[in-house]
Amino acid sequence: MKALVAVKRVVDYNVKVRVKADGSDVDIGNVKMAMNPFDEIAVEEAVRLKEAGKINEIVAVSLGGKKCEDTLRTALAMGADRAVHVETEAVLEPLAVAKLLKAVADREQPQILLLGKQAIDDDANQTAQMLAALLNAPQGTFAGKIELLENEAVVTREIDGGSETLALKLPAVISTDLRLNEPRYVKLPQIMQAKKKPLEKLTPEALNVNTAARVQAVRYAEPQTRRAGVKAADAADLAAKLKAAKVI
Ligand code: AMP
Repeated sequence: MKALVAVKRVVDYNVKVRVKADGSDVDIGNVKMAMNPFDEIAVEEAVRLKEAGKINEIVAVSLGGKKCEDTLRTALAMGADRAVHVETEAVLEPLAVAKLLKAVADREQPQILLLGKQAIDDDANQTAQMLAALLNAPQGTFAGKIELLENEAVVTREIDGGSETLALKLPAVISTDLRLNEPRYVKLPQIMQAKKKPLEKLTPEALNVNTAARVQAVRYAEPQTRRAGVKAADAADLAAKLKAAKVI
């Protein structure tokens, strides 16, 4: 069984992103980049499934500029067997990403497609769902537990107020949530080994996918700073303050 894992290069989660002075975009020049945390969880899960003998090949895929190679090398160091880099400088919206991933999946024919539930830069939470629709495959989003059987994946997903367990016919698209696992740290020997693993290069043109943007960002702005609160002495005071503020 083969797993395809999508890994996105994003701004490191510790970085506080600033808006450019002219409001045209966010400024990510010279900031630390890393693998999207939910994608690390996806790679970790694939590696655990391989270690458990449930799958025998892990292919990591990343779409974007040249530096995505670093993200793919991290996935290879974690335990992916080979990598596919769809190189493009275009800004990729979730639909374009889903179309590119579908094109790669058509070539690779994986039984399980693992993605993060969301990328922490655009926070879209759309790609896995769109990919499942394009592939006409079942989807299990926000997975907190995955059990892989011969022809199906049993996915326990996090939903409002609890969890839900679904049996998905393979091939299926699964997106990872925080509780699924804790990704391993990679050690130096694995980083060295990863340099020798195969990394294939493709382009959107070679995959015959149009990545043209459909959404136009008009302006970026910092979120409003929170105003200081006031303390209420007791319930009556609170009610009076809420009335004065026309909340009740
Ligand atoms: P999003 O729908 O943008 O929040 O992204 C959800 C997931 O789609 C991510 O966690 C990744 O697994 C995958 N993904 C999104 N963009 C890319 C990309 N450029 N390269 C590889 N995977 C991606």
